[in-house]
Amino acid sequence: MIEDTIVAVSTAPGEAGIAVIRLAGPDAVRLADQVFRGRKPLGSSPPRFMRYGRVVDSREEVVDEVLAVRFEAPRTYTGSEMAEIHCHGGSVSARRVVEMLSGLGARLAEPGEFTRRAFLNGRLDLAQAESVLGVIRARSDRALSSAARSLGGELSEAVKNLRERLLSMCAGLEASFDFPEEDIPSPEKTEILPALEQALKEAEKLHRRCRDGQVLREGIRVAIVGRPNVGKSSLLNALLQESRAIVTSIPGTTRDVIEAVLTYDGVPIRLVDTAGIRQPSDLLEEAGIARTLSALKEADLKLWVLDGSRPLCEEDALVEERLQGTVFMVLFNKADLPKALDADEIRSRHPGKRFLGVSAKTGLGLERLKEEIVRLVTGEGVLEEACNASARQVEELRTAVQGISEALSAHSLDLAASCLRESRLALERFLGMNADNDLLDTIFRQFCLGK
Ligand code: GDP
Repeated sequence: MIEDTIVAVSTAPGEAGIAVIRLAGPDAVRLADQVFRGRKPLGSSPPRFMRYGRVVDSREEVVDEVLAVRFEAPRTYTGSEMAEIHCHGGSVSARRVVEMLSGLGARLAEPGEFTRRAFLNGRLDLAQAESVLGVIRARSDRALSSAARSLGGELSEAVKNLRERLLSMCAGLEASFDFPEEDIPSPEKTEILPALEQALKEAEKLHRRCRDGQVLREGIRVAIVGRPNVGKSSLLNALLQESRAIVTSIPGTTRDVIEAVLTYDGVPIRLVDTAGIRQPSDLLEEAGIARTLSALKEADLKLWVLDGSRPLCEEDALVEERLQGTVFMVLFNKADLPKALDADEIRSRHPGKRFLGVSAKTGLGLERLKEEIVRLVTGEGVLEEACNASARQVEELRTAVQGISEALSAHSLDLAASCLRESRLALERFLGMNADNDLLDTIFRQFCLGK
């Protein structure tokens, strides 16, 4: 593949100590040397040696005082020749240097193009490339360490390993049905059964680790639902300990969906307060209710808020109906007031759900609530093993798990083999083997410029 030379500012815009301009491609050093004046040109300096000097324009006028360095292929971020110019921060200097370099023939890089090249040159696999984004976007220590684990290749190794085993199991199965006259299907299947079960366990574990990583990065979406006046806005405020939602006692006035993010144990919890679900009395309220329903659909978890100081009413039942079949937790709010709600009746209708008495007014039970939200979505003690993964990758792993599990219950060997094949293909997509341009475009478009 023939590469051109690309250039971009790799540091964030705005005032800062330094700004780094990156060049990658066959002409990286030659172009850098056209603007750089040091004791020696970069081309005759050793690789990775920081050289002090100046950047000059076409009339040899000094633009900035800089440090410059070259990196020799293939041991560079992209795998091709690279150069960096570190000039003073602030947008003007770096922008001028980039303009000059592009005037000399470098092409402005697309977002994520450096990392894309790293992938295309085999420096990183797709799982690692995607975790670069995870490192950049990490908002907590935990999210960062999960991304670093994936970047280090731990995740890819595990996926590759699983893929190879599926490949050899498949080959074994295929060999047995290529010779049907031998008529030995059942022993073959029982033979690979333990290996298949083991593979399923591993695939499930990988899926869980990646899902946890996704949770760490993107947070848990929690929708607070309930009829008007049960204390949803108060609860949101209490959880945030600051006023973002208007707390009011007039039913149905909280019309907008309000979102706020807090973190618990390094996990972002995205709270969405929703307009009360009930018969709309006007258009504005109808709009609020429509948004509530979409927030509900997207939420990982719902908090069904009930007013513990009042008996259950018709409107509560309406909410309850909508919650059927979804993941939710029941909160008996206003626990500071005398109890009038028949909690046992609700418990008996929803076996297996979590119930919690809370008070938005006194703060009772709120710490516990945050803890349970995180635990409910991630399971216990597994966040330590979380791996950064994109939604796409989590989905591929889910497909892989499904394939193995279908292979286990398949009645015929060819069916089992074809399920395993599906599973293996999902793992290959996960790693970006044979990735097409559309997929790469979608992935790298999310990157920032200069990465
Ligand atoms: P929403 O319509 O569900 O959002 O309910 P609001 O948050 O507006 O609360 C309705 C009313 O209940 C307000 O007057 C709140 O002050 C009151 N309220 C909310 N939570 C509590 C609580 O835990 N204890 C008590 N005593 N009052 C509460």
